[in-house]
Amino acid sequence: MRLAVGHDGVLTVTIPFGVDWSVIERLIESKRQWILSKIKFFKSIDKDVVRVFLKGDYVKHKEEALGLAKDRVAHFNAVYRHSFNKISIRNQKTRWGSCSKKGNLSFNYKILFLPQAERDYIIVHEICHLSEFNHSPEFWSLVEKTVPNYRDIKKTLRRQEFYLK
Ligand SMILES: [Zn+2]
Repeated sequence: MRLAVGHDGVLTVTIPFGVDWSVIERLIESKRQWILSKIKFFKSIDKDVVRVFLKGDYVKHKEEALGLAKDRVAHFNAVYRHSFNKISIRNQKTRWGSCSKKGNLSFNYKILFLPQAERDYIIVHEICHLSEFNHSPEFWSLVEKTVPNYRDIKKTLRRQEFYLK
């Protein structure tokens, strides 16, 4: 088996056919420090917490992520009172969340693994798109109502991009 971390910070695991999944997980776990140091090096990340996502994580965590998203949407929407259709969870590589013109909110299951402040910001961001379908000053002042420090959170979140790989 071979582990490699590319310059983009993406971990690639090469395995012979038929190797049991638990063996692969154990290998990754045993090389955790090495993997994290490589990712940190390539991405110049100064955080201590880096999570490596495995195939199967989406299915494993989808329901929990949905429950959490529903709870937090209800919590913040008590302030905004925007109407929406449904909330769903997706496995995306490039987005934390989205809001459709039909009023459907969707969130990346990986929000489960973000610090709460960042997760809440993503939830609030999409709730605010239900009434402002853009990133206008009006949109940001809506966000600010419940997340006054959204500017700082946006900056930290940019460094969390690697979570999405
Ligand atoms: Zn947006």
